[in-house]
Amino acid sequence: MRFQLTGNGAARGMALGRARLEQPSRYLVDERPLAAEDVAAELERLDRALALARAELAALREKLHGVLAREVGDFIDAHSMILADRELTAGLADLVRIGRYRASAALKMQRDRIVAVFEAMDDPYLRSRKEDIDHVIGRVQAALVRESSAEERKLAARVGEILVSDTVAPSELVHLAEHGVLGVVLTSGSPLSHSAILARSLRLPMIVAAHEALAHIQDDDLILIDGEHGEVVVHPTAQDIARYRSWQREVVQRGKILALLRDADTRTRDGVPIHLYANAELPADIAQARACGAAGVGLYRTEFLFLQRKEIPGEGEQFLAYRDLVLGMGGLPVTIRTLDLGADKADSTGIVLDDEDNPALGVRGVRLSLRRPQLMITQLRAILRASNYGPVRVLVPMVASAEEMASVRHLLNECARDLRTAGYEIADHIELGAMIEVPAAAIALPGMIKKLDFIAIGTNDLVQYTLAVDRNNDQLANLYDPLHPAVLTLLAQTIATAARAGRQVTLCGEMAGDVRYTALLLALGLTEFSMHPGLLLEVREAVNAFDRSQLIDHAKPLLRAVTREGILHVLERMKACSNAVAPAITTT
Ligand code: PEP
Ligand code: MG
Repeated sequence: MRFQLTGNGAARGMALGRARLEQPSRYLVDERPLAAEDVAAELERLDRALALARAELAALREKLHGVLAREVGDFIDAHSMILADRELTAGLADLVRIGRYRASAALKMQRDRIVAVFEAMDDPYLRSRKEDIDHVIGRVQAALVRESSAEERKLAARVGEILVSDTVAPSELVHLAEHGVLGVVLTSGSPLSHSAILARSLRLPMIVAAHEALAHIQDDDLILIDGEHGEVVVHPTAQDIARYRSWQREVVQRGKILALLRDADTRTRDGVPIHLYANAELPADIAQARACGAAGVGLYRTEFLFLQRKEIPGEGEQFLAYRDLVLGMGGLPVTIRTLDLGADKADSTGIVLDDEDNPALGVRGVRLSLRRPQLMITQLRAILRASNYGPVRVLVPMVASAEEMASVRHLLNECARDLRTAGYEIADHIELGAMIEVPAAAIALPGMIKKLDFIAIGTNDLVQYTLAVDRNNDQLANLYDPLHPAVLTLLAQTIATAARAGRQVTLCGEMAGDVRYTALLLALGLTEFSMHPGLLLEVREAVNAFDRSQLIDHAKPLLRAVTREGILHVLERMKACSNAVAPAITTT
């Protein structure tokens, strides 16, 4: 029988396919008692999972060098010791042999027992170590799941399926897209997570925060998903399928209209040129950026090079990636952002520690790079070498202070000097800019702008940090509001500060590619936007329909408004500054 579930749209597009459920490990605790004849096999499964978890830790330990080895090594050693603990393993075996628990249930029992002991301790430090137990047990559970889900993994290679899961890591997404998965439905997550950004790059329709999905959808159910409106239709009717077909036809039609804008200028009706750059992370983004007439790459997220792999890419490998990017853009400017790992952009190379209490406020972006100077030096050298092939700028994420930028500038100068001494040809001058995404940087900008060559506003994070609302927390989605007066004030001040100092300012958060915000950003004086290339033509269409000077007249009332309603009211009036026949299309 047909039924419908809702979530939040995270990557546009519709998909029709069979559901493939990936149960999160916590649901995989199988509580059914074990039959006597299965005990031996279950003990073997448990042993294999323990061995796998030990081997993974040992491999991780081996990969660590230098500072990293000192910092992370102790933590890995502690986990290895827990795994080697005879009491733990003997206890597990007893639970299986005598208690007839399955391996996953035995692990859960042991975890609960040990944690209860830790929690009863007086020493707060020891009490906090219960997290180590969770990490270790989690690792063994994951090893068990990997073993039991061989069948599922085969399914992953089947074309025409829609993944239904609680969460998905960015690195897994690429794998899924490559294997013909048509779309993704998650029970948690937000449209601003890195996975969602990547799904848009991969053109993989995605719905997040569809809380009921795992409880109500069965493997192999036919489902129709709408990544724009956040809808999942289970057992679609002929009528639903007709709607899907008509969406497919519309995509083709709309594509033809937008294609006419590929070679058009981006200029407001009153003749002000606006520059639209592309955000990129995959090679396909570069091709699309060129195809839709982007003015260059405004944000190249280098994290992609570090995801999906076990070791840190070296200077040579990074150089080739950056050089190809620069060559691919055929002489147009390219802004390469230094590594922004941390928070939800965890990697598999072991650079990021996964035990921070508040990862979004932790060691991410430039903080991570400055703590591991060798990482940053390798990256800066690779970028500098690529600068010989076309115009390149360096952008630094998560900056909070002038000192951080001074440290990066120092490293950049040293790298340039060393490369020249070693005989490399590099550009005479490389512009260095900061992402303005931490409120401290926005507020202190007047004092630091002179030391920066350009800035890029990262609204995805600026909104999260200004409003103290985790961008990945679906419970808070309604509080994540780019139209909050505090955000608008910071945006207006940042754009004005840059203009006064004669510095270029680009906005490269998701707001830039969302036509609902185009008028607002033009009214605040923004002339450089950077967005996913798939959205560029829509934004060009919207920009070209607006009269900028009329929009600017609305800036004062906009910034004076104190409620969301008041702000929406001004935005409504701004629509009259456009001569577009059709209302602007809404995007996710
Ligand atoms: C941002 O924060 O707006 C941004 C562009 O960076 P990211 O989404 O990669 O954090
Ligand atoms: Mg950011």
